[in-house]
Amino acid sequence: MSTPTRITHLINGAAWEGTAERTSPVYNPATGAQTGVLDLASTDLVDEIVRGAKAAWQNEWQNASLTKRTQVLFTFRELLNAKKEEIGAIITSEHGKVLSDAVGEVTRGLEVAEFACGIPQLLKGGFSENVSTRVDVYSIRQSLGVVAVISPFNFPAMVPLWFVPIAIACGNAVVIKPSEKDPSAVNAVAALWKEAGLPDGVLNVVHGDKEAVDALLTHPDVKAVSFVGSTPIAKYVYETGTAHGKRVQALGGAKNHMLVLPDADLDLAADAAVNAGFGSAGERCMAISALLAVEPIADDLISKITDRMGKLVTGDGTRGSDMGPLVTREHADKVTSYLDKGVDAGATLVVDGREGDVDADGEGFFLKPTLFDNVTPGMPVYDDEIFGPVLSVVRVQSYDEGLKLINDNPYGNGTAIFTNDGGAARRFQNEVEVGMVGINVPIPVPMAYFSFGGWKNSLFGDTHAHGMEGVHFFTRGKVVTSRWLDPSHGGLNLGFPQNT
Ligand code: NAD
Repeated sequence: MSTPTRITHLINGAAWEGTAERTSPVYNPATGAQTGVLDLASTDLVDEIVRGAKAAWQNEWQNASLTKRTQVLFTFRELLNAKKEEIGAIITSEHGKVLSDAVGEVTRGLEVAEFACGIPQLLKGGFSENVSTRVDVYSIRQSLGVVAVISPFNFPAMVPLWFVPIAIACGNAVVIKPSEKDPSAVNAVAALWKEAGLPDGVLNVVHGDKEAVDALLTHPDVKAVSFVGSTPIAKYVYETGTAHGKRVQALGGAKNHMLVLPDADLDLAADAAVNAGFGSAGERCMAISALLAVEPIADDLISKITDRMGKLVTGDGTRGSDMGPLVTREHADKVTSYLDKGVDAGATLVVDGREGDVDADGEGFFLKPTLFDNVTPGMPVYDDEIFGPVLSVVRVQSYDEGLKLINDNPYGNGTAIFTNDGGAARRFQNEVEVGMVGINVPIPVPMAYFSFGGWKNSLFGDTHAHGMEGVHFFTRGKVVTSRWLDPSHGGLNLGFPQNT
C-alpha cells in the first residue's frame, strides 16, 4: 500500500510550509484505502491567511481594471476547460462518483466562470442626468474585501465554482475552505487561477474543520460567507456569521420529491427517477429521494423502475460503472442503517442494495441502489435526508395530496412534476413551495445566469448562488449624487434636499 500524500493549504500563491498540529485522513472510497493526509488549519493560521488576503485585495485586486479581471477570467476558463478530465479524475479518486459525472460537475462549474467573464456588463451601474437642476445621480457596485467560501463534499469542484469566479470577478479576495473529505479538487482548480494570472493572495485555500470554519465566521476582516452543506451546519453558519456582522448565504440540505401524475409518460418518469435517485449514489442536494406516485400508476411505475435498477452496475467510478461508492465508511454505514429502519417502520423493501456484487477491488464504501414502497410520512426513510442511493415510493391518491406533502416538508430545495397536462404543471409551478422546480425534468439545476437556491430549511439568508444574485451578494451598492456647479451658488439652506 502506498504512503498517503500530504495535502495542504495554498496561501499567497504557494503551498503552506508549516507543520500541522492536526490532520485528517482522505480515502479512495472505491477501494477503502487511505490516499491522503490533510493538514487542518488552526485559528491562528486562518487569521494569517485572512490578513494576507486582505492585503492582496487592497494592493492588487480591489482596483484592478475590468479589462485585467476579464483577461484572468477568460484565461482561467480556457485552462479549466482543458483540464476538465484531469480534475474529474481527482474528484472520482476522493469522492467516488463515476468519472463522467465528475467531469460533468466540472462542466457545470465552468459555466459559472463563463458567466463571470461578462463582469463588465454585469457590473454596469445606472446613470440619471439632471435629477435636479444640474444634478446627476449614478450607482456603482464595489467589492466587499475578503469573502469566505465553505463547501460540502458532494460537489468538490462545482460548488466552489458557484461562488469563486463571481467573487473574484467582482474584485474580492477569497478564502475557500473545502470539505475535508475530498479536498484535492479545490487545490487543483486554485493552481489554474494562479496560472491564469490571478495575483497571489487573491485566492487562498485553507483546509480544516470546525476550528477553521469558526475562525472564518468570527474574523472581523471576513466580510461575507457563502456556505453550502447540511441544514444544521448551514443554520449555525448563518446565525454565527450574521451575529458577527457578515452577510451570509447558507445553502442547506434537502428532501426532494418527484410527483408523478397518472397521465405522465411512465417510461420517462421511470428513467428520471432512476437517474435522479441513484446518480452520484444519491449524494446530490437535488437528488430525488421521495417519489410520489398518484394512483393507480404506482405498481406500473415501480415495475419499470425495478427493471431499470436491475441493469445498473455499481462499482469503481474509473471502470465505467453507473454508480460509485458513498464518500466514507461512516456515511455508508449510516445510509445502510436506513434499510432496517425502513423495514422496522413498515415500509416494503422492494430492492435491497446490500445484495449483489460490486465491480471494485478492496473494501470500498458501497451500497447498491435501494427501493422502498409503501413509505409514509413519519418513517425515518421519509423524514430524514438520507443522502444515499435509497429511493422511497409514497403512494398518494391525488395531485392535492402530493402537493401537500411537498409543501409540508421542512426542506424546499428542488422538486419535479411528471405529467402531460400543461394545466397541472402550471398549477404546480405556481403552488409548490420549493425554490427550484422541474417539469418533466428531474434535477432542475438552474443555468449559471439564473440563480441556484432553495426555500425553507434549504437556504438561510435571502440570496441564492450565482447569476445576478451572486453579483449582488459579492458587491455593495453605492449611489453618488453629483453637482458640478455653474458659477452661480445656491446659498445656505438647512432644509432637506428637494429636487428643483
Ligand atoms: P456538512 O454540513 O457536513 O459540511 C459542509 C461544510 O461544513 C464542510 O466544509 C465542513 O468541513 C463544514 N462543517 C462540518 N461540520 C461543521 C461544524 N460543526 N461547524 C462548522 N463547520 C462544519 O455537509 P456535507 O456532508 O459535506 O455535504 C452534504 C450536505 O450538503 C447535504 O445535506 C446536502 O444536501 C448539502 N448540500 C446542499 C446543497 C444546496 O445547494 N442546498 C448543495 C450541495 C450539498
